[in-house]
Amino acid sequence: MPPDWNALANLSLAGSLLSREQAQAVLRAPESELLAQLAAVYRVRHHYWGNRVRLHFLLNAQSGLCPEDCHYCSQSKISSAEIEKYPLLAAEKILAAAARASQLKAGTFCFVISGRSPSERVFERVLETVRTVKSQYNFKVCACLGLLNEDQTRQLAEAGVDRVNHNLNTAENFHGNICTTHGFGDRVSTLKAVQSAGITTCSGGI
Ligand code: SF4
Repeated sequence: MPPDWNALANLSLAGSLLSREQAQAVLRAPESELLAQLAAVYRVRHHYWGNRVRLHFLLNAQSGLCPEDCHYCSQSKISSAEIEKYPLLAAEKILAAAARASQLKAGTFCFVISGRSPSERVFERVLETVRTVKSQYNFKVCACLGLLNEDQTRQLAEAGVDRVNHNLNTAENFHGNICTTHGFGDRVSTLKAVQSAGITTCSGGI
């Protein structure tokens, strides 16, 4: 018997945290419970945010062609997914996307490139584009660029990047099962470099 989702929503609305068991029950519920879960969750969402939404505009500025083997990713070297593959878009195309994001009243412009980490040439172009976008629009800029070192994150901060999206993906002892071309430690170092530059990491919205 699944839990009473509305009772869990009531707990949350009263400011209580769900227990570990209750949180696991949410994750383990069968698909047939999904609509009931969504209805309960919507009560919490509506209580805090009403019908307000915040728009983030995500641009895939470089797609596919990645030498890494992240098993979950359609852009990896081991994926046979039929996706568009292209190197870094020309600055004019990126700025046209930023203009469209502004027209749509997006608050955040998210700039994503595929790959292990940006080459020097690509990184310079990313910095230049971020500077231009920040000078022309009142966006927050979020970047997802793969593995980064401290020198790179410092330059991103100076160019105006507000947030970097980089995930740990899984537990350290499971990482080898989902990727063999870079390690859990590489991801941790990137997050430390992001933090050292005073940039926040992406947790879903700014
Ligand atoms: S490094 Fe990024 S783009 Fe490349 S396979 Fe992994 S997740 Fe995909």
